[in-house]
Amino acid sequence: MIDKSFHIITFGCQMNANDSRWLALSLEDRGFVRAEAADAQVVVINTCSVREKPEQKVASALDGVRRVTRGDPRVLVAVAGCVAQQMGGKLFSPGGQVRLLIGSDGLVRAPGAIEQLLAEPELRLSLLDFTDSYEERGQVRGAPVPVARVTIMQGCDNFCAYCIVPFTRGRQKSRAAASVLEECRARLKEGAREICLLGQNVNAYGLDRHGDGSTFAGLLACVAALPGLARLRYVTPHPKDMGLEDVSAFGDLAPLCPRLHLPLQSGSDTVLKRMGRKYDSRDFLNLVERLRKTRPDMALGTDIIVGFPGESEKDFGDTLNMVHACEFVSSFSFCYSDRPGTRAALFPDKVDPAVSRERLARLQSLQDALTRRLLEKRVGQKTEILIEGRSRRQEAGKTSWQGRDPYGVPVHLVLSGNTEDYTGKMVPVIITQSKKYTLMAQQAGGLCAEQSNFEKAGPLRKDLPANPCAGKAKKNFTPGA
Ligand code: SF4
Repeated sequence: MIDKSFHIITFGCQMNANDSRWLALSLEDRGFVRAEAADAQVVVINTCSVREKPEQKVASALDGVRRVTRGDPRVLVAVAGCVAQQMGGKLFSPGGQVRLLIGSDGLVRAPGAIEQLLAEPELRLSLLDFTDSYEERGQVRGAPVPVARVTIMQGCDNFCAYCIVPFTRGRQKSRAAASVLEECRARLKEGAREICLLGQNVNAYGLDRHGDGSTFAGLLACVAALPGLARLRYVTPHPKDMGLEDVSAFGDLAPLCPRLHLPLQSGSDTVLKRMGRKYDSRDFLNLVERLRKTRPDMALGTDIIVGFPGESEKDFGDTLNMVHACEFVSSFSFCYSDRPGTRAALFPDKVDPAVSRERLARLQSLQDALTRRLLEKRVGQKTEILIEGRSRRQEAGKTSWQGRDPYGVPVHLVLSGNTEDYTGKMVPVIITQSKKYTLMAQQAGGLCAEQSNFEKAGPLRKDLPANPCAGKAKKNFTPGA
């Protein structure tokens, strides 16, 4: 076991990945080093309960840690995230290695708690209380990355019938706009070219009682204006909270990429009502039409739950029709399963799992065909790729790189020479081939200008107006909201 070393295992969404990144860098700031699980003094399992069988996944991860560390009682195991919040003290078993539970609001105190627990081997700590407002975590400095993910809010107030998030991540708490901007500027100065704003319901930003008068559209405009920014994205919006100004932003803000992940969940109005989504299929189609009017090349992705309680074959057919009509370029789809404590867990008329699986297969084959058709149409087009790193596949004397186009599609291209590091560079390309989920490209000209304009970002401005991101009261586009 390496003294003062840690290993983090992360499940789930980009917010979890971002939380793990912050924890890792904070521990490094305190003198810890990264290690394999078998050698680490501290192992953190950052959990997610959105997908199926989260408790079994955590149990199996804990078994894996016990196996590789041979149950060494000196190893401190922490369970963080949604499953820790859900299971609480049940994770502390007599003689077990788990001595720390970290909820989403407790993460800010986790580095200090880890140090305390290493000094006091008999102690166990639980950081599961929700705080009243968004607690700033303190800036950490990491290796430059082309794409920086910046959290703008925590939790959710929507209580969709199937979703555990409001229980595990708490009620919505918006982060102060000035702090978001400060972190964005710092990440751009580090070398990021793209910023992705993160939250469970980003376009409700500022609408909770913790809001500082900023609106989501106001915040987007402020971030888009930061020197050095080439691309801006966000995830995840809720269709019912999509304001007119949020739609217009796609036409007004040059760095805002024409790609939006817009969760549909179901195409059936009956199911949407039972889910408590507060929009219907007509609202969603209107929103899609408005988005495409604003940005004709808009690429949409979505989330879909198949086999929600009471879903009939007709309801499922409505979902297939919506997928066709919206022409999603990608979707995350999965079979419904109960989450304890949610309303849907108590709904009768659960769909037979075999029926759900068969519907999921049909949905995914439709999506695959759509994706293939939409990607094939891209062949021959010129675009720009932000290089995120080397591809796994390499050719002799050349290096294969991977990045994303403005539509969020992974693109692979070969660049001559194998010494220069193209990570973070914008490369003009022509798309040469489409694969199942990715594209292949060839360089079409010199590297894009302004390769390192993040250097222009300069020091953090101290003279920002009190609230540069304030906006007018939000007008939602979807009438059902
Ligand atoms: S809006 Fe998203 S995070 Fe919030 S309750 Fe609904 S599904 Fe969960």
